[in-house]
Amino acid sequence: MDDEQMNHLKKEISEKIAMLEEERIRYLEDAKRVEGEKRYVENELIRLQKEVRILKAELERLKQPPMIIGTVRDLLASGKVIVRSTTGPDFIVDVSQDVDRRSLKVGSRVSLNKQSLAVMEVLPPSIDPIVSGAEVIEKPSVSYDDIGGLRDELRELREAVEDPLMRPEVYKKVGIEPPKAVLLEGPPGTGKTLMAKAVATQTNATFIRVVGSELVQKYIGEGARLVREMFELAREKSPSIVFIDELDSVGAKRIDMATSGDREVQRTLMQLLAEMDGFNPLGDVKIIGATNRPDILDEALLRPGRFDRIITIPPPDYGARLDIFAIHTKKMNLHKDVSFEELAAITDGASGADIRAICTEAGMYTIREKRVKVKMVDFRRAVDKVIGNMDYTEKEAGLMFG
Ligand code: ATP
Repeated sequence: MDDEQMNHLKKEISEKIAMLEEERIRYLEDAKRVEGEKRYVENELIRLQKEVRILKAELERLKQPPMIIGTVRDLLASGKVIVRSTTGPDFIVDVSQDVDRRSLKVGSRVSLNKQSLAVMEVLPPSIDPIVSGAEVIEKPSVSYDDIGGLRDELRELREAVEDPLMRPEVYKKVGIEPPKAVLLEGPPGTGKTLMAKAVATQTNATFIRVVGSELVQKYIGEGARLVREMFELAREKSPSIVFIDELDSVGAKRIDMATSGDREVQRTLMQLLAEMDGFNPLGDVKIIGATNRPDILDEALLRPGRFDRIITIPPPDYGARLDIFAIHTKKMNLHKDVSFEELAAITDGASGADIRAICTEAGMYTIREKRVKVKMVDFRRAVDKVIGNMDYTEKEAGLMFG
């Protein structure tokens, strides 16, 4: 082999080595990438396995039979307890190890296993059933100044409710009995609830509001029980004002007792009448009813000694609307172009609730325009939106705004 051949061979060998080296590096890089992918897939697998475990546990939990609610009647020395389930008789049952024995007392509300009735958990005390359906405000904070217009109506309500609570001697001296209950009748959103709350505030009474339709229950006797419990609560928290909204849903005239549902409403009404007959007009509990449909009320409700003072709440007139606008814009940042006179003039037929909605809506328009002062144009748009009786278009709004 001569020199030239030798050199050629060397070159070929070194080229081969370089190629192999390149290939090795490529393989190494590939291996690194695959290693990374493998790690990612392994992590993903672990994550998914965890998710499957959680979902399986959730599925198991959902498949569990429901538990029964019961009350502990007695704790036995053997560690067992006597419970009464909502289904009827008393049982002697075991207690699950997870239950903290110290929290188990006579009268505790507990959940019971469906099969063995073993105590599984101690539940928080039940909410008073009437409290769950009624709104109870210990200290309402509505003052007479929050009511626009309605001066005469408010005076009548105060005479009938506030005086017997605060100054019963006035009635005693004159020798007459104050009305037992007052009925406020008038269109929706005209301030009936507001007036009742204001009287409760003034007399430091607890305000208990219940909606008539909520007293009408599905099960026989439930409505009457709610009425009874509501008055019990009122006596417990006296002085108190019981405000029954939508009185017509329990107190509508008896037509013919066609369905068992009607009979149930009737039973609820009888209970209400019995409660009203049973208490002292100069006592610490006062009843205010409200309805938009006085025409359909059963006469039995309106007899002396029951809702014997009826106050009609009219929709606000011009002057009252002026007042209501002033009340609801008290905290608003108003531009000087806002005219209550114009607003009151263009909102004929609006209720107090409508006026409140108009004020809120005007504020929303102001925010949308990124301003802080509420202008008349915002109010006009709001009036248009809420009661829609203005001949007023977006274009004009734009012009006026410009
Ligand atoms: P409903 O028959 O629908 O229960 P209501 O007559 O009880 O209606 P409220 O709940 O007292 O009406 O009124 C709703 C809201 O409207 C109140 O919270 C209050 O902001 C406003 N409002 C209504 N009337 C007046 C009024 N005369 N003065 C001030 N605000 C009022």
